[in-house]
Formats: sequence, C-alpha cells, structure tokens
Amino acid sequence: MLFKENILIPQWKKEFNNLICGFTTPFFGNMALTRRSVSTKRTLKENRVFLSETLNIPSNTIFSPRQTHSDTVLYVNDNNVGRGAYSLDGAQDGDACITDKKNILLLVSWADCIPVLLFEEEKGICAAIHSGWRGAKENIAAKTIKKIIEIGGKESNIYAAVGPGIRDCCYKVGIDVIKYFENDNYSEFIRKNDGEYYLDLQSVVCRQIILSGVKKENIDNYGECNSCSTKIEFFSCRKDGKEKFEGQAAFIGIY
Ligand SMILES: [Zn+2]
Repeated sequence: MLFKENILIPQWKKEFNNLICGFTTPFFGNMALTRRSVSTKRTLKENRVFLSETLNIPSNTIFSPRQTHSDTVLYVNDNNVGRGAYSLDGAQDGDACITDKKNILLLVSWADCIPVLLFEEEKGICAAIHSGWRGAKENIAAKTIKKIIEIGGKESNIYAAVGPGIRDCCYKVGIDVIKYFENDNYSEFIRKNDGEYYLDLQSVVCRQIILSGVKKENIDNYGECNSCSTKIEFFSCRKDGKEKFEGQAAFIGIY
C-alpha cells in the first residue's frame, strides 16, 4: 500500500482516477460512531469533516453504518446517503455497505477488526466491510461479494484491499471462537501456544475473499497487525484498552 497524507492507499487505486479510497491513521482522530473522541480536540463530526476536506469531497456524502458485528450488507443510494455521516442518529445497522452510485463515500470504522475495501471496475461498484471474528464466522466478506455479483458485477473485475487488522501475534481467543475456524479453509491461521489459541484474523478474511473468486493479484493486503505495528501506529482495542480505544476509517467512493 501507499502512504500519503496520513492515509494508506491500495496500490491498485492509481489505475482509477475518479476513485477515492483508503484507510485512515490516528492523525485523523476517532472515526467510530460508537466511540468517544479523545486523541484529538475535535469531535467525531469535526474528524469526519476534516477527512472529507482532505479528500476534497462534501462531508454530507458520507454513509456510515452503526456497526453491530453482524453480516448485514447495506445498499446505499440517494435515499440513504448521509446517514451516519456525523453521528449515530439515523445511522443504519450493518457491517458492510455497497453502492453502484457516484458521489457517495462508504465509510466503516475499525480498531482490531479487519477492514476491507472492494471495487468492481467495470460497473463501478464500491463496498466497505468491517469484519471481526463474528463477521468472519458469518463470512460477511463473501456475502458482500455476492451482492456485488447480484447488482451486475463480476468476481474477476473486483479489486480488494485488506487493511491493518489483528493477527495471531496479538489475538488470543478462546475455544468458543476457534471452533468456527478449525476447518480446512482456516486451520493454518490458528496458532496454539501453551494451551492457548491465537487467531490470524487478517489472513482468515483474506482467504475468504480469495475463496469468493477474487484474483489473488487483485488483492492488496497490508499484512501488518494493527495492534503491534511499528511502521505506523494504529488505534487498537487490545493496545489502548477497552475503555479508551478509538477507531480508524476505511472508506471508498467514486467522485
Ligand atoms: Zn500483533
């Protein structure tokens, strides 16, 4: 990925001039609707406006869901654009959003979960996904790709970006979580150490995207864990604590 103006940008973005997409860093402050903004003096609304000014787009064209660790994929058009742009008031429940319309910035927030951006180049379909272990268990990534196909897209035309998220270095989980991933598709992403289990959730979600038919060479995977990354420091629930942590944004849209 490229790193410009404190935003991580997928390598493949340079092929598409009117596409705006990336992953924010803590420079932009808290981007999560449900979290308190503490690292900047700005409010959530001011953080979102600051991001939209940086991207040179109107802030009221942001769509941002109330994330509930579900497998709900929301379709966005002129009827619901702007919902969740500045606050939870009016935000729709869901953990992925998709659009085939222009001038809409889909935005999901993430700390230790896995953020994914999808772009179908022929029909100009964009999608943003937030996948924690519950989302991965329900395979929200595959469900979002299925929606892209339903509205006319093709798997082979999809570009994917997997942002910084939690890996087995930092993600200790119980057997209640591991049991969903102990199968042929994901067992290589489970590490056992001293009777404890660690899950590489980033690789699980990346595998789900490949199994959904997206070409490997079309996937830009950041690869580093957000919790222990040293190159760039990210907000992390595990690192910053459950009370204090804030969220970054993964965003995508055509303008
Ligand atoms: Zn780590």
